[in-house]
Amino acid sequence: MIEGTCHCGAVSFTFPKRPDWLTSCNCSVCRRYNPLWAYAKVSEISLRAAEGATIAYIHGDKTLAMHSCQTCGCTTHWIGLDSDKSAKMAVNFRMCSASEIANIRVRNFDGAETWEYLDQE
Ligand SMILES: [Zn+2]
Repeated sequence: MIEGTCHCGAVSFTFPKRPDWLTSCNCSVCRRYNPLWAYAKVSEISLRAAEGATIAYIHGDKTLAMHSCQTCGCTTHWIGLDSDKSAKMAVNFRMCSASEIANIRVRNFDGAETWEYLDQE
């Protein structure tokens, strides 16, 4: 399991395992926040945040909310707006220790146009 926490500690998560890769996305939101996403099912990620601890940013087709810590501003995760526990969500591995993420492959995802990874799997 891998732990992540925002800078002030108000939002934290536990990811079930070392991910095979982290995703760097170039969509209009991600290219500004610069997160490294790791994906898993909602049911597999333990997220700890008090009610109102995050700000949810919803844009575009309104299928998901990008969450940031209300206090320190770190982008922590995104989650779908339907509350389906089998759906995927993502947490930002920049909330994890540098040594933890140092050896995980980073893949570039073209969220701006083609919605495909720009490398070969
Ligand atoms: Zn925080």
